[in-house]
Order: sequence, then structure tokens, then C-alpha cells
Amino acid sequence: MTGPKKSVNSHLETGTKDSISLAGHSEMFSRELLNAIPQQIWTTDEQGILNNVNDQVSRDLGIENQVIISAGWSIFMHPDDLSHSLANWNESLETGHEYVNEVRLRFADGYYYWHLIRAKRILHNQGYIWVGSNTNINEQKANESRKDEFISIASHELKTPLTAIKGFTQMLSRQISETKASSFLHRITSQLERLEKLIADLMDVSKINAGKMAFNLAEFDFSKMLRETVAGLQQVYPKYQLILQDQAPIHFKGDQFRLEQVVQNFVANAVKYSPDADLVLIKATLEQDYLIVSVTDYGIGIKPEHLSKLFDRYYRADNSSARFEGLGLGLYISADIIKRHGGSFWIESEQGKGSTFHFKLPLSVGQTILPEVKIPDRYKDKYISIKCNNENGIMHVEWYGHQDMHSVKHGGKLMIEYLRNNRCSKVFNDNRAVLGTWSEASDWAANVWLPLMELAGLRHFAWVFSASAFSQLSAKKSVENEEATSDVRFFANAENAWQWLHALSPKKS
Ligand code: ADP
Repeated sequence: MTGPKKSVNSHLETGTKDSISLAGHSEMFSRELLNAIPQQIWTTDEQGILNNVNDQVSRDLGIENQVIISAGWSIFMHPDDLSHSLANWNESLETGHEYVNEVRLRFADGYYYWHLIRAKRILHNQGYIWVGSNTNINEQKANESRKDEFISIASHELKTPLTAIKGFTQMLSRQISETKASSFLHRITSQLERLEKLIADLMDVSKINAGKMAFNLAEFDFSKMLRETVAGLQQVYPKYQLILQDQAPIHFKGDQFRLEQVVQNFVANAVKYSPDADLVLIKATLEQDYLIVSVTDYGIGIKPEHLSKLFDRYYRADNSSARFEGLGLGLYISADIIKRHGGSFWIESEQGKGSTFHFKLPLSVGQTILPEVKIPDRYKDKYISIKCNNENGIMHVEWYGHQDMHSVKHGGKLMIEYLRNNRCSKVFNDNRAVLGTWSEASDWAANVWLPLMELAGLRHFAWVFSASAFSQLSAKKSVENEEATSDVRFFANAENAWQWLHALSPKKS
């Protein structure tokens, strides 16, 4: 391979030895120190060609350092880990971003061992080099899979007697007419249902972790599913008013059973976390190219710092763990179901006032977005509007409605083109009309889009926030690039953003 594309898989290729030493120490001391570290340490040149490995590598792989350097990592990697490793490494070489990956490496004993590989690009001798470490995480991985396996077996085993107990309880309820006994039976049944739900959640989590959650995709009447689910839940929670709003007829292709599970989880949470309120609103609407479902409650609400973590496994906000029962798995499972349908989720909440949980499912993926205006200094479509002012060098961008990977990439690329062609250096980026979340696109924005904007001439970027907390999180993540050279500032108030940009210099900078 030649040219810059050599970097594509070069850390897995051969290279020449180029030594590095620690500041203030001889090369020999540095090498002794590196060799004493009980962890694999390595370096590559700027193009990603392996040029140093410490002795731990040869101890583990059972091959001399120089041979490993000449051969590269690829021949030691598990074949199933190669393609994603290459893709991640390419991206790091292109963006300069930290490389983090988990792979299996074959040791001298012929077995593969899991490693966490991390590498950072650093300045060295007026150029860049990559410094990496491979940490053996095989024991951790084995423990994790033992735990997952245990959960999977235990939940299966628990399910069988539970089903039998439930059956006998139902038979008994039909036989018994005495009021007191039937009230006890009723209570037993509701506790059994809780147990059944906990076991089902544990089984789902083990399926997700093992990558074995299967989906049956078929077209179904989403509105009907919602009506029936809400009616069923109303029976379960007679003390609450579950109100289904705005029922437009909606047909959707997805796994009906799993999507019903998401709605059930959102509504059950709305009820559980509303000890002093009795109203829950459920809404399904079609907006742009999405189906959006929202569940609103007037319960305890959530502190802003918990919002982005609630969909993690076992995560429970501090105000709920002591007062309400649960494992913190429902939202984790819901998040997986939504993501597997190409969708996303977000929350709006105020502590003490209540919360709205939303999820968004795409009706059609990757549609061509047609422009309404497209002239050299102006562009507009249903997702974005761009106006370039050649006088003051400010590009005025407005984003509309719900965004996803496709629409953000589309708008982001147009911004690069218009910024460059109109020689603008300042951007007024207005997100006030943005709804929900677009977190799926924020890594791309930080690693690819922002560096390209800077190459196209960006110097100052005023980002006016959307009201949605999740959109704000996506915006912040989009500029998390340690090597960014432009000045990016966030504003809640558009007026302040304009003032900042105008004060920089009235003419082009
Ligand atoms: P669980 O309810 O079993 O803890 P979930 O995964 O369904 O598990 O929810 C995770 C956490 O999210 C809950 O522990 C709670 O802190 C928070 N949460 C979920 N729904 C709501 C809601 N409607 N209002 C307030 N907090 C909520």
C-alpha cells in the first residue's frame, strides 16, 4: 500500500524500529523501565506502523520482539476481531482521536486472551507517534460471562416453578368463594406477576448481553397496539387515569411484542414514580419521518445529572432506589429494543413536577432530503437552513425538528461546503427549534465534522442551545475534540450569541 491510505491498516503491518526515551533518562533506562511494566506497551509511527514493543509482548506471544514488529498485530488477533479493529484504528489515524478497542490476542500457549487496547497520539520529535498499551482483561471477561451465564440459567430455572405456582393459584381461585381467602389469593397472584416480570427482565438482559435478543419484524397497526396496551394497563392500575391522546392511524414495521414491552415499561414507571399523582398521558404522533411516542407523568421527576444515565444497566436515580422497588433494568432493555429498531429515546423532566419519556422510530431510513432553496450563499430544506453573509463572514444556520445520523450528516456536510465556498469563519448555529436527541451523530460530529469545519475555515462557533436537555448533551458531545482549534461557545440566549460573534470583528476574520 502507498500514500496516506497506507495508514488504513498499517499498525497491523510491518515497520522499522524507531526508539523513544523518557525525558531526562538514557534510552537504556527507558527501555528497562518499559520492559519491567507487566503490561504490553508499544508505539507506532504517525502512519500507524508498529516500531516498538516491550518485552511483555514477547513474553506473552512467545515470539521475539523484532519478529512481532515486522509481522504487525494482525496475525495474533482473533479473526473475528480483525475487521472492527481495523475500522476503529483507521478512524483514530484519520482523526487523531484515542483508540480504544477490545480484542483477543493469541498467546504462546495457543489460546486467545481478551485485551483492552488503548493508544494515544502524542507529539514526538516534531511529529506524531502513537503510544499504546494492551491490558489483559481475560479474567474480567470470563467473570462477566460467568455472571451472565448464571443469571441466564437462574432465571430459566426460576421461571418453571413460578409458572406452575401461577397455574395452581388460578385453579385454586376458581374453587374458593370465601372472601378472605380469595383476597389472599388475589394478593398472591399480583406478587407472582411481579416475580414473573423480574425474571423476564433478567432473561432479556442475558439475551442482550449474549447478542441473542431476536426480533420478529412485521408490519402492524401501531395505534391498535397502543390502544390495547393502554386498556390492559388501565386494568392493572385502576387508581390511575391513563389517557391516550392524539390517535392518528399509524402502521409500522417492527417487532410488535417488543415495542409493546417498551410502552408497558414507560407507563409502569410513570405510575410507579407518581406516588402523589394519578394522571398519565400517552401520545403517539407522526412528525417529519418519525413515529414519536411520549409518556408523561406528574410524579417525582428526575434530577438533570441522572437524565443521560437512566438507560444504563442497573442505573437507578438516588431518589428512587430507597423508596421504590426495582432492578434498574427496564429502561436498559427498552433502550436496546428502540436502538435495534433504528430509533432513539430521550427524557424531559423537572424534579418534583414530573417527566416525559419519549421514543422515536424512523418510518423510512436514509431518504433523500430535497432542497427548497439552493443558491451559492443560501440553502434550505426541512431539516436545516443556511445563510452566508459575505460582509461579516458569519454563516447563519438553523436546524429544525427531530434530527438523526442521516439528517445531521447531511446538514453537517452542507455547512462545510457553504462555509468554505463563502469564506466564512464564524457560525451562528441555532438549535432552538431542535427537538429530542440526536446522540447517535455526536461522535461523527466531534471526530469528523468539526476537524473538517476547521479545515474549511471555521474560527468561531456560537451554538445556541435547544430547550431539550438531551439535544444539549448531544451538542456538547459533538465538540468534545481535544485537538479542536476553533473557539466553540454554547449559549442559552441567542442575543448573547449574536453579540459575541459581532464583537469579534465586524469584517471577515
Ligand atoms: P426500575 O424502575 O426497575 O428501577 P428502570 O430501568 O425502568 O428500572 O428505570 C431506571 C430508573 O429510572 C429508575 O430507578 C428511576 O430512578 C428512573 N425513572 C424511570 N422512570 C421514571 C419516571 N417516570 N419518573 C421518575 N424516575 C424514573
